[in-house]
Amino acid sequence: MSDLDITHDPSLRCWVASAHAAGTDFPVQNLPLGMFRRAGEAGGFRGGVAIGDRIVDLGAWLALGLFDGIAAEAARVAVAGPDLNRFAALGRPHWKALRGALSALLSGPAAPPGAEEALVPMEAAEMALPVTPGNYTDFFCSLEHASNAGRVMRPGQPAVGENFRWMPIAYHGRASSIRVSGTPCRRPMGQQRDGTAPPVFAPTARLDYEAELGCIIGPGNALGQRVPVAEAEAHILGICLLNDWSARDIQRFEYQPLGPFLGKSFLTSLSPWVVTLEALAPFRVPPRARSGPEEPGAPPHLAHPADASGGFDIALTAWLRPPGAEAPAPIGTGNARWLYWTPSQMLAHHTSNGCDLRPGDIFGTGTISGFGPGEQGCLLEATANGRAPLTLPGGVQRAFLEDGDEVILTARCEREGHVPIGFGRCGGTVLPAN
Ligand code: CA
Repeated sequence: MSDLDITHDPSLRCWVASAHAAGTDFPVQNLPLGMFRRAGEAGGFRGGVAIGDRIVDLGAWLALGLFDGIAAEAARVAVAGPDLNRFAALGRPHWKALRGALSALLSGPAAPPGAEEALVPMEAAEMALPVTPGNYTDFFCSLEHASNAGRVMRPGQPAVGENFRWMPIAYHGRASSIRVSGTPCRRPMGQQRDGTAPPVFAPTARLDYEAELGCIIGPGNALGQRVPVAEAEAHILGICLLNDWSARDIQRFEYQPLGPFLGKSFLTSLSPWVVTLEALAPFRVPPRARSGPEEPGAPPHLAHPADASGGFDIALTAWLRPPGAEAPAPIGTGNARWLYWTPSQMLAHHTSNGCDLRPGDIFGTGTISGFGPGEQGCLLEATANGRAPLTLPGGVQRAFLEDGDEVILTARCEREGHVPIGFGRCGGTVLPAN
């Protein structure tokens, strides 16, 4: 799926000038979807599409009669709100029809009558979560993250579990505490244990971020019905940035034998714009190569030629702005192409026992890390569990996050011969414990 078409043409000219600004995340080749309203406006959030520094108000363009056919159906569903869950349920023919119509309307020398006046400046808008997730599954698909974290959390044991190379490892996360970018992160309380002394209940001293991508699930499957890897992408609307905030001291004491719980469930942040798989088509890559005696290859039910370009070249950067600093400083970079499993493999594995997925569910990829300097997707790895603090511009040191710190995730896709696209931002500031 997701062959290149006219909507990816790098020569497209958009009549929205800011769509051509250097470094914009939202050229006319991107067209991500989100839920917005004018700041201070009464009433619910409605569906919109990012273009440059503006938002296409799909409801206003519907009222102008700019859409027809299944593109109009798709726009009506996106506008109805209260989220994009029902839009996600429509499936790829509707998603592609709306993208095609928007691309045609936004390209060309001049706006259709009334269309430009109906754009909303992003700076005058507030954003909601794009979907209302009924379920959130957090995977663990970065071999480097698993290795680095394993060495820290389980010294003396094999860094990566024997199952890692046979299946995309995951746990069921908490959907109720997923919030849109900009929501502050209240430092959680929890039980921590130092050595053999009795555990104490206290504010976490090891608050961390995790740089991940979030896959937004589309139509989904009926209970008892498996989704083969070759069909999995029909169930993925697109991808957002996801920060899976973590309290390492709470996590360390609680996580065996059943996995993370309160060390993760206090907040997960999601960026407001869903970058569709259509927009990501020029930035596809083969799944990560596997060779050598340690690499068994994907098992047959998770392998298919249809997934031969199932990886994505998405470069992430995490930024930290301590209190009082003027600008955020980059603290880690990563790339989704390093992931050991593709989104299709995650979805096929998730449904391989018949578990049903629903529109608007979210998969986190797991922290995305590499082995190189500066390629760690969380502070647990970057500071060796606090033993080697980072030094930020101005000499500020950080082992873990402190109150007032702002963490921001960004991501870009760039490839020769194509117009670069981005994901906007996923940010949040740490507040003191209650
Ligand atoms: Ca995570």
